[in-house]
Amino acid sequence: MTKKRIAVIGAGVSGLSSIKCCLDEDLEPVCFERTDDIGGLWRFQENPEEGRASIYKSVVINTSKEMMCFSDFLIPDDYPNFMHNSQILEYFRMYAKEFDLLKYIRFKTTVCSVKKQPDFSTSGQWEVVTESEGEKEVNVFDGVMVCTGHHTNAHLPLESFPGIEKFKGQYLHSREYKNPESFTGKRVLIIGIGNSGGDLAVEISHTAKQVFISTRRGAWILSRVGDYGYPLDVSSLSRFQHFLTKICSQSLVNTYLENKMNQRIDHELYGLKPKHRALSQHPTINDNLPNRIISGMVKVKGNVKEFTETAAIFEDGSREDDIDAVIFATGYSFAFPFLEDSVKVVKNKVSLYKKVFPPDLEKPTLAIIGLIQPLGAIMPISELQGRWATQVFKGLKTLPSQSEMMKDIAKAQEEMAKRYVESQRHTIQGDYMDTMEELADLVGVKPNLLSLAFTDPKLALQLLLGPCTPAQYRLQGRGKWNGARKAILTTEDRIRKPMNTRVIESKSSMTSTITMARLMLAVVFFAIIITYF
Ligand code: FAD
Ligand code: NAP
Repeated sequence: MTKKRIAVIGAGVSGLSSIKCCLDEDLEPVCFERTDDIGGLWRFQENPEEGRASIYKSVVINTSKEMMCFSDFLIPDDYPNFMHNSQILEYFRMYAKEFDLLKYIRFKTTVCSVKKQPDFSTSGQWEVVTESEGEKEVNVFDGVMVCTGHHTNAHLPLESFPGIEKFKGQYLHSREYKNPESFTGKRVLIIGIGNSGGDLAVEISHTAKQVFISTRRGAWILSRVGDYGYPLDVSSLSRFQHFLTKICSQSLVNTYLENKMNQRIDHELYGLKPKHRALSQHPTINDNLPNRIISGMVKVKGNVKEFTETAAIFEDGSREDDIDAVIFATGYSFAFPFLEDSVKVVKNKVSLYKKVFPPDLEKPTLAIIGLIQPLGAIMPISELQGRWATQVFKGLKTLPSQSEMMKDIAKAQEEMAKRYVESQRHTIQGDYMDTMEELADLVGVKPNLLSLAFTDPKLALQLLLGPCTPAQYRLQGRGKWNGARKAILTTEDRIRKPMNTRVIESKSSMTSTITMARLMLAVVFFAIIITYF
């Protein structure tokens, strides 16, 4: 039998892992990448190409290396826990080399349209039109994986800012911001307190005369550095904690998180306190913002009511004069113009089963990969989505009926709307653990803790209490990786390695302490359950 041909659109992290997933399932991938290199958003350039996401020079990732790596290809142990964007790209290059992915990519080739073949209801095939250096080409594929990212199109809501057309200073979107040089000595206003707004405020404040950060509803500020100095995601994303959050009310979890964040900085004192609860907004992670606020370099302001030629007037009646530059760190919107009617995006909302499959296609041969805003790393999620999609393409897994998928989508959207404040940035939210466990279940690779408790208790304990790293989904089932067990049990070593730059004798492992504390808590907890229920 000839292999099914799959078009992979985009060679960012989602595209690279999708190519690998196709190869693992013996499918034939052809990846189209509009630029001349891999890496997508993570390939920094001063002047990025149109149609590709773009970052500033200093971006340091806020998801740690153990939580963001591919499940069967670890990040070198001496790499820092939170990597600079150049190291992320280096890692993607290593991955592409290790699995020989480059030969499947057609660079400088833009996908212009993806249309159903006339016999789609029986063949499930797609006609893909590409353009490369002015030449159009038409190819037919058995499946399509759309990996074009969702941080490319700047959301610039100028209509919400009356007077901006009169403003005589410079204004730009954070997508265009590359470095702080041109803001030296200036008074700069940043709109939006997402991760871009926070990062830019901190960086620019080192050389600007004054930075203001305007937020229409405030934010809870997390820190990359979690308990005992471990990466936040490592110390907060374990199965045990996930279980605890499931049995506690959301209000209790919010109270716990808010108390914790207020212990670091009283959000009211710093002018940051929002009306909404901690879990109702995509987290802003910034270790340095409080320092810049307490030293007066960054001043927190409310929403801008209007601009004059030189000033910003805020809703609380205050004004700041002599503003030289305004940076709109107001996020992004996404679209799939080449998909025409197959996937409709309305107000940044899209109807996809498990955020991957359009529910209304006669054949499940189109998958969107990486269209999620997770509370955690996107890379392992894209990878698991790719593993699932390729199994569906191959016919190893089936999707439920259209009506069941629609019901599931409606439920997921309802839950999202209930939990998050209404904002165009809260339309594709997903919790890391929920998403990974659900996808793993669909792929058939969710580890069986109960059976492991008898056959390999050491591993079972780590799976229960330790960070839920991507390698945990390579222990069994299709795509099993023999290195997974060792990778899981040596997580701590790789976290410590880059920081062990000065030898200290008696090293005590803090994660073992955390694990022991969790273990004791788990024992007490189960004892209570057994005694009383
Ligand atoms: P992208 O990296 O955007 O890649 C898409 C690729 O598709 C590009 O190469 C593009 O050229 C190509 N393409 C697009 N259209 C076409 C077409 N029509 N034809 C051919 N090729 C096409 N996520 C995290 O998990 N952790 C973080 O800490 C984190 N930090 C971030 C920081 C910033 C500043 C931003 C903006 C985002 C951050 N993200 C983070 C989210 C980020 O989107 C993902 O990490 C990741 O880059 C998504 O990869 P992707 O492959 O899905 O998309
Ligand atoms: P974002 O998360 O969408 O945040 C946009 C901000 O702009 C929010 O504060 C939002 O407020 C505000 N905003 C939007 N429209 C507005 C309007 N009309 N009026 C006033 N305020 C408005 O965008 P982002 O910060 O660019 O982040 C995009 C993605 O990149 C996220 O996934 C983020 O985690 C990631 N990122 C990561 C890093 C890092 O790892 N270091 C750095 C930057 C970005 P509301 O909340 O009120 O809508």
